[in-house]
Amino acid sequence: LTMASVRVAVRVRPLNKRGKTFSFDFSYDSTDRGSPIFASQERIFHDLGSDVLKAAFDGFNACMFAYGQTGSGKSYTMMGDTVSKALSDFSALSKSDAVSFRTEVSYLEIYNERVQDLLNKRTTATDGGCLRVREHPRDGPYVENLSKHLIYNHRDMEDLIILGNANRTTASTGMNDLSSRSHAILTISFTQVKCSAKNLNWSKYSFKVKIHLVDLAGSERADATRTTGTRLKEGANINKSLVTLGSVISALADLGVGGQSTNKKKQIFIPYRDSVLTWLLKDSLGGNSMTTMIATVSPADVNYGETLSTLRYASRAKNIVNSPTVNED
Ligand code: ADP
Ligand code: MG
Repeated sequence: LTMASVRVAVRVRPLNKRGKTFSFDFSYDSTDRGSPIFASQERIFHDLGSDVLKAAFDGFNACMFAYGQTGSGKSYTMMGDTVSKALSDFSALSKSDAVSFRTEVSYLEIYNERVQDLLNKRTTATDGGCLRVREHPRDGPYVENLSKHLIYNHRDMEDLIILGNANRTTASTGMNDLSSRSHAILTISFTQVKCSAKNLNWSKYSFKVKIHLVDLAGSERADATRTTGTRLKEGANINKSLVTLGSVISALADLGVGGQSTNKKKQIFIPYRDSVLTWLLKDSLGGNSMTTMIATVSPADVNYGETLSTLRYASRAKNIVNSPTVNED
């Protein structure tokens, strides 16, 4: 009998008897059409998107995030046809013919803390595609030279999403699914314009509001044993943005209703500038805005660990309360 000098064993313990329970405002299933919690894209829009649109109409900026591991349905939920297209239908809410809205769309990607325009290949190709983030003292953070596209209907919106998604995919070929490691932000902005009967010029009215649809990078941990060099840096940056987003959201949750701390003396620092993602979304997170997070999870038990971490992350966000204060331009 010869004995190996080194032996390695792995032992997996049984599942805990005690299951984990979370509670959320909404929960949806995608498998059983007969189930009361079955959700089509239309239902997701109806339950979550339509309130975002109404809030925007009332002057609140809004952010909708999809958070979850790669393959769990973030892009399907955020950048799929139904929700994003339906959100562009702003003028339908307007009851008056004298008031109309100019609707503009921009679509960008944040990869390694760098911003690329998904709707302008020229800036995507030159300069390594890197655009600068700046902050205007009154209007807040913005991306310099980011293209904005005027849209008139659902078809225009659809075309832009297809173009942006294609650019996102192109950039990722040869880079092992970069799209799972970048954040994409589709921004729809509405500016109220009024048509004067005497003068056919459209004059700018006082109202401007934004809706951001955010398709976050995959939440799975970068595999520490396989990440080196570029990958390691990416992993750190992805984590940085997601961790910062979590911190920003939980800091906002601590502030409570109307962005007022329950403890008036307590000054809470919101670390918006710790990542490009949160910096860009600064004026659309918390305070005068409506935040919706859709956590997407896989039904497969092999993904149990990731699913649990997604649910934990999402439950931190649950405490955000939005204040109904009208956005001032
Ligand atoms: P992620 O962006 O999180 O990596 P995707 O949105 O690309 O994941 O989804 C992975 C695959 O699963 C895609 O083929 C997508 O069409 C499909 N899928 C995701 N969510 C759903 C859903 N709720 N119903 C039907 N198909 C879905
Ligand atoms: Mg995706």
